Amino acid sequence: MWLPKNDPIRNVLYIDLTKKKYWVENRSDIFEEYMGGVGAAIKLLEEELPKGADPLGPENTIVLAVGPFTGIYPIASKTVALFKSPHTGNLGESHAGGRSAIAIRLAGLGAIVIKGASDTPIWVSIYRHRVYFRDARALWGMRSSFTVGRIIRENERMPGFRTIMRIGKAGEKLVTYACVITETYRHFGRLGLGAVFGSKKLKGLVIAGRGSIPVANKREYREIYEKIYRTMVESPLMKKYHDLGTPANVLVLDKLRALPTKNLQQTCFENAKLLSGEYLAEKYLARRTACSHCPVACIHLAALREPYPDEPYFYKTTFVNYDYEPIYALGTMLGATTVDGFLKLLDTVEELGLDVMSTGVILAWLTEAYQRKVIGEKELMGVKPNWGNYEEYIKVVELIVEQPNDFYRALAKGVEYASSIYGGKEFALSFGGNEMPGYHTGPAAPLSYAIGSRHSHLDAGGYSLDEKTVGKELPPEEIVSRLIKEERWRQILSSLVVCFFARGVYRPEVVVNAFKALGIECSEEDLEGLGRKIHLLKYSLKIREGFNLDKIVFPRRIFEVPTPHGYLSEDNLKLMVNIFKNKIYSELQEEGLLEPISQN
Ligand code: SF4
Repeated sequence: MWLPKNDPIRNVLYIDLTKKKYWVENRSDIFEEYMGGVGAAIKLLEEELPKGADPLGPENTIVLAVGPFTGIYPIASKTVALFKSPHTGNLGESHAGGRSAIAIRLAGLGAIVIKGASDTPIWVSIYRHRVYFRDARALWGMRSSFTVGRIIRENERMPGFRTIMRIGKAGEKLVTYACVITETYRHFGRLGLGAVFGSKKLKGLVIAGRGSIPVANKREYREIYEKIYRTMVESPLMKKYHDLGTPANVLVLDKLRALPTKNLQQTCFENAKLLSGEYLAEKYLARRTACSHCPVACIHLAALREPYPDEPYFYKTTFVNYDYEPIYALGTMLGATTVDGFLKLLDTVEELGLDVMSTGVILAWLTEAYQRKVIGEKELMGVKPNWGNYEEYIKVVELIVEQPNDFYRALAKGVEYASSIYGGKEFALSFGGNEMPGYHTGPAAPLSYAIGSRHSHLDAGGYSLDEKTVGKELPPEEIVSRLIKEERWRQILSSLVVCFFARGVYRPEVVVNAFKALGIECSEEDLEGLGRKIHLLKYSLKIREGFNLDKIVFPRRIFEVPTPHGYLSEDNLKLMVNIFKNKIYSELQEEGLLEPISQN
């Protein structure tokens, strides 16, 4: 029911990297039933991923998918990537903007499925329905992901109509939280898609096309487009995202005492002003940019000026993209004392192609572990991590990628793994194997990190529920049911695939009307039903691959520091996990999606 007539989104491109073969299949069946984006991708992943596959083996499968609104309505600007995560060992999901979504759509595709592994480094170029396998041996081992991007850019066609995804050295070295960079400033950041690319010797992916997309009811379409566009550009929230970007949240969270600082030893930061959106915009902002087909332009680039040694008045200027999450992870969590130090570290993390959030949480854990003498100088090979010492942090990050000893090899697998071997688990901020996002707002935030299908603050926005309910305590059942409801609605946004910043604009009634202009009649109940179905499918794949709600452990640290809702109770969080488990298991059973396995 979700597939607009004659829409090329039904075309799925399959690429086998082992055999260097490709083919396109008409998968109307999938797009009819699962809409697109994450809905289509979970079905395609379920079909292609063998149970128990090694996330870094050739059998792992990457699915990139866009939605029926991509290229048609504003801010439907994201691509969904699904894969088996080498970081958590179960479902990997990451979203990125840039030009990726529009390029896939204009290439006349709805999804791309990548299987197998090349025996030598390659980059793959997709021009509409043709695929070229290019030799990338000269790019393998190159220090900077920026240089890799530039070389690919100069060797490919169709500028303005293409996306260029690539990995850095971290992906090549299989750091389990390596990212994929697209258009320099956007990322498939979380859960290690970069390592999966690396394991397939896939250095880059170029996608380009100049196709068009038919629209059924043109007049209605123009009206609804105008309405969505106006609501968006006139909304004060979008203005905030444009003016200051997500760093507008720094001072808000600091005031609320919910800003994780120095490995969450505190929740407000003495240097918060230095890292605030306001200060950065005033002193460092060089320009703003946007993902394709987005009128908001929330991407903020700082100009980092570094003098050349022995050359007075000569500066190297680097543009560094800053958002709230990098500020939290590499700024407040590391006790920043200078903006330049923070920007230099962020630039290094980008060059090497690491997920910034996981990297920051790992560095913060490491600093505390070193101070507590859990980790010594022998393991660290002489590096001395201390709050705010960015020169030392840059050395650590480089060593994580190089992995010269067992300790750095452990750090390259994440904070949960490293702390399980070297100690310091009680202050290792990991949820379901993924490092914590930047909100210590109350009970809904950690609960949503733990039970969310990708262990991200974006799954159900638990932090937002906390922020809205400061001063009143919700019953545990209500918190769980509100998180489930939100996560299920976000499956629809992720199937469309709309940027979550526009979630206030794309309300159910707007989505229903927008579909109408594409010739599709649906109701809000239909959307709700599909959101539930996708959520359950994702959970069933997580469980199939070994995720176990009974094994969730909350890091001790989160109970030692108050939130705006006071101190968190471990019993209360465990109770809510249990409520969630009973609900999700009974629904999975009802739908026949749960294999008869023991959950002990
Ligand atoms: S709001 Fe920002 S992240 Fe979202 S689509 Fe627009 S530019 Fe990209």
